[in-house]
Amino acid sequence: MRIAVLALQGDFIEHEQKLSECGVDTFEIRQLADIERDFDGLILPGGESTTIGKLLRELGLYAPLKQKIENGLPVLATCAGMILLAEKIANDDKTHFGTMAITVKRNAYGRQLGSFRTLSEMKGLGVIPMTFIRAPYIEQTNGAEILATVQGKSVAARQGNQLALAFHPELDDSNDIFNYFIDICKAYKSTTK
Ligand code: GLN
Repeated sequence: MRIAVLALQGDFIEHEQKLSECGVDTFEIRQLADIERDFDGLILPGGESTTIGKLLRELGLYAPLKQKIENGLPVLATCAGMILLAEKIANDDKTHFGTMAITVKRNAYGRQLGSFRTLSEMKGLGVIPMTFIRAPYIEQTNGAEILATVQGKSVAARQGNQLALAFHPELDDSNDIFNYFIDICKAYKSTTK
């Protein structure tokens, strides 16, 4: 099994390290030729969604990756990645893949409280660490299932094989989120291959 990590901008290296710790083969998507390889899951890392969205389009990666996600490829999207998946961004006119039925708010915690760490419950996993860095939250679900709520705001959602998190599991010690995602990828692989 192999999981691709979008490596255009942001903290993709941390995701690759986590996947290797979990014993999963990984490679970086930096250009169109990279997606011709066979892979069973995709990670959209944190970073700056506007920059990643622009690069996706410039490099011709936008349409083929969107198609793969729509066809059921498992995706783990963290922070900026969650913004890329959202069908609506409350405080931005532009959307990106728009494959997930959520409305998100960018930089939703304001400047002062922009970054914080907490322990909170995630459905199916129990209490896990959650690190927020200039994070968005989910303002509204338009069909996706909400898996975690922190300070009254929705911060994790799943829709089919798409898993979106406002926080950064790649920056914490726990590998629970990664193992949860790897299980989704294994199930996908077994039904498609
Ligand atoms: N604020 C960033 C954005 O809007 C997301 C921050 C992050 O990924 N840590 O894209």
